[in-house]
Amino acid sequence: MSKPALHSWRPPSIDALLRATEGQDLITVYGRKAATEELRAAVDFCRTNNEGNEEQIFGSAALALAKRKVKSIKPVINLTGSVLHTNLGRAPLSDAALSAMNNAAGFINLEYDLKRGARGERDSHVATWLMRLTGAEAGIAVNNNAAAVMAVLNSLSRGKEAIISRGELVEIGGSFRMPEVMARAGVKLREVGATNRTHLSDYANAISNKTGIIVRVRPSNFAIQGFTSSVAEKDLAALAHEHGIPFYDELGAGALVDLRRWGLPYERTVQEALLDGADIVSFSGDKLMGGPQAGLIVGRKDLVAKISRNPLKRAIRLDKITLAALEATLALYDNDETLAESLPTFRYLSRKGPEIREIAETLAAVLSSYVPEWKVEVASCKSQIGSGALPVDVLDSFAVTFQHRNSSTKASGGKLKKLALQFRNLPTPVIGRIHEEKFWLDCRCLDNVSAIKANVDRSNFK
Ligand SMILES: *Cc1c(COP(=O)(O)O)cnc(C)c1O
Repeated sequence: MSKPALHSWRPPSIDALLRATEGQDLITVYGRKAATEELRAAVDFCRTNNEGNEEQIFGSAALALAKRKVKSIKPVINLTGSVLHTNLGRAPLSDAALSAMNNAAGFINLEYDLKRGARGERDSHVATWLMRLTGAEAGIAVNNNAAAVMAVLNSLSRGKEAIISRGELVEIGGSFRMPEVMARAGVKLREVGATNRTHLSDYANAISNKTGIIVRVRPSNFAIQGFTSSVAEKDLAALAHEHGIPFYDELGAGALVDLRRWGLPYERTVQEALLDGADIVSFSGDKLMGGPQAGLIVGRKDLVAKISRNPLKRAIRLDKITLAALEATLALYDNDETLAESLPTFRYLSRKGPEIREIAETLAAVLSSYVPEWKVEVASCKSQIGSGALPVDVLDSFAVTFQHRNSSTKASGGKLKKLALQFRNLPTPVIGRIHEEKFWLDCRCLDNVSAIKANVDRSNFK
């Protein structure tokens, strides 16, 4: 056959393609709608290039259809050294939470009281746990802590002033700006003190009949260094109560246990915040609590009820799957001595150097044969808790490092980026970080070295 002349290529009809055996096969596997779309796209492509036979059209449509089926969301192996990595989904969930989510997939007693056979309360599934674990009079859950802040401020201080220290007007992860959140909540911001120093008298002088609430935000993803002074929560609570104003402790990270038991740095707990007199406390579910994305609000019964009644609450309530995961996570805290085994977040955070070093050495031995151009070594490093919790590098860890054998410092940048991409391109992507002319895989969150080997073997890692 001679090559068709320019503009002479005649597209086959889509109907004919769909009727052919190959077309029928595509319909069986992928459905008529998707098969039609991708055959049309393949024909369009051929039309643009003015060539292409049926075999090529079916081939490229089949490839495109297979690609459509690959899920966008996939598990990754987090070797970044940041345990609660916001971009990687924060807290990895426990087995207990996983099975609870499975159980909740069908019909459940979400808002149904099985005893009375009547409408029940969505929050009842977690309220008892929140009260039991924190000592609060009441507790509810919403979509995340940002939503919790909105709900608390809007319910308790709308049209009034919220007094907050200038040093606490933090920005979290670039998208949570306290002043803007307050404005959207319909609350007037009343800043007191200087960036690094705020005294009790600053708060006292700001109180008027316009005051609706006193807020303390735990500065989380930054630490003001040097000479700082802030007012103790106890004193703020006492001042607020003297004037009949609620005191709101916005904790952010939300530890339910003292982290020092695992040699981790001190982090204020929800229980402490309540004991210090906070009327309302809010915190995230997927940071140090180790659960699903959620915002937890605990505190005085009348105030929590007021937040529950706010129409805003309906817009930010939790779905049944998350609620199930949350209940299961909270239940693990009943036996807090086993948390380092039952909750992945604490398993990773509490891992000791020697154990991580052993994992790193095994991984280095496995990987070195795949990357002969790279010097593969084990090096000590510092992991981070992540998610703005406890901002300083604190956890002693070990990593596998990759340094190019014969690249000048200048040339190694591109090679490092390429290596990092190769790891991200694995069937189960492995995420590391580039630092000081090396590629680092921090092994704190690595459970299974042989899974990485299988992962690499399945790819053409070169
Ligand atoms: C993380 C954080 C938030 C936002 O919480 P999300 O659960 O991510 O919505 C708000 N305030 C503080 C202090 C935080 O640390």
